[in-house]
Amino acid sequence: MDGQQVQPQPHPAVPLLMEDSKPGRRAGTLVAGEDVRQALDDLPAHLLRCKPPAMPELSELQVVRHFTRLSQRNFSVDTNTYPLGSCTMKYNPRAAHAVASLAGLVTRHPHTPDAHNQGLLATLAELQQMLAAITGLPEVSLAPMGGAQGELAALAMMAAYHRDQGDGQRTEVLVPNSAHGTNPASAAMCGLKVREIATTPDGDVDTAALAAALSGKTAAVMLTNPSTLGTFERRITEIARMVHEAGALCYYDGANLNAILGRVRPADMGFDALHLNLHKTFATPHGGGGPGAGPVAASKRLAPYLPLPYVLETDGVFRLATAMERPQSIGVLGAFLGNVGVQLRAYAYLRLLGTAGLARISGHAVLNASYVAHGLHQAGYKLAYPQRRACHEFVVTLAAEAERHGFRAGDVAKRMLDFGIYAPTVYFPLLVSECLLIEPTETETKDELDRLIMVMSQIMEEGRTQPELLQQAPHLLPISRVDEVAAARHPVLTWRTTPEPGSPAPA
Ligand SMILES: *Cc1c(COP(=O)(O)O)cnc(C)c1O
Repeated sequence: MDGQQVQPQPHPAVPLLMEDSKPGRRAGTLVAGEDVRQALDDLPAHLLRCKPPAMPELSELQVVRHFTRLSQRNFSVDTNTYPLGSCTMKYNPRAAHAVASLAGLVTRHPHTPDAHNQGLLATLAELQQMLAAITGLPEVSLAPMGGAQGELAALAMMAAYHRDQGDGQRTEVLVPNSAHGTNPASAAMCGLKVREIATTPDGDVDTAALAAALSGKTAAVMLTNPSTLGTFERRITEIARMVHEAGALCYYDGANLNAILGRVRPADMGFDALHLNLHKTFATPHGGGGPGAGPVAASKRLAPYLPLPYVLETDGVFRLATAMERPQSIGVLGAFLGNVGVQLRAYAYLRLLGTAGLARISGHAVLNASYVAHGLHQAGYKLAYPQRRACHEFVVTLAAEAERHGFRAGDVAKRMLDFGIYAPTVYFPLLVSECLLIEPTETETKDELDRLIMVMSQIMEEGRTQPELLQQAPHLLPISRVDEVAAARHPVLTWRTTPEPGSPAPA
């Protein structure tokens, strides 16, 4: 003890493991077995390290505390209300995870021959069929490993279809300006040209603008319905007719399926192909940086172009379609069967729910969003589309507050963190200034929704009387307001030892 005072610390700092390292400290001792020693002997001497790598040296308890503390500093669906619009941060039942984690499934070798893989292939074939039934489109490939990859796959299928029809000049994709950023990005990645379509003041696609943009060059129109404004496109069948009459195809971004599950099928709205986000709607959490899955569904004429692998059944025997059998397929998008763990969770979730359960999801998702929208409206929040019924999510705008009181949408979001509620999506959709996109999901209780409304009402009041409280929030978290520009432009991503005086600088 050198006489320094120890300060009380409710959130002890979490230093980097390297900073806590003490030479010689160990978490456990790995004793190299005969096999490891043998393997080392087999390595050519010039490939072996001369000195040990610079690894942190810590006790096991230090390591456990380090990672546990880091995990406690995260907001998560398991610990906090998480109304992050467009991301559908709902509770994902543990039962679905337990099924997907059965030992026979997780230890399966990816090269297992089809003959030894009948149970898994049968399950995936069934999932293909269940997703086909949900979307109304006849065939589904589970291959894509994310929403954006599903978009890319479906657009590549559409481009290939047009080429085969002798319509190779169809290279334009029309995307409403309310769309998720992945839509134009996927079209561009696919080598197609993106044209933006305007939205009417009450949140529908501007059909006059659409009619003007459709031409012999249009390959596809990408739509999200309900859109990311949270509103259901009222003239969807008319739009689909216009698109088809122009010889183009309709693509459905199915990331918002939570709003319509079990009630209306994209095929019935007139869509030719779509992707689904299993890691939003179907029992895999979104946004955790973990794996996802973005299956694509296709109409009869687009089905031959679906990506591989694709599970087939002949006389009760399941197998993967070969490239020879599917010469028009856009090909393989990744390794093996895709993210099978995510696919299996979706399967278990759908089995748990059944057909009736699907409609309960969308019913409660829409009810909860409408309830919160109503509560916030009464608390003085301005709905961006007040004349429209909220679907699973809705947009509020704080443009007036920003002008009058100087607090912005981002400040409200940061202040919500102080109340243990994760921030809604901010500044998206791009169409609405100073907006929050709020999606409470079907899995929150009414008490929790009431608390969300109460907290946001109180924040509105705070903002009107003492805006600096919001502008400097969060106040109660281990880390307060960060400089987002510096974090993006000058991130510190490496760790270096401080060189001992006189020693050469580390490489
Ligand atoms: C999340 C989302 C996507 C993209 O899905 P990723 O799996 O994140 O690539 C596309 N469209 C909408 C509307 C989304 O919400």
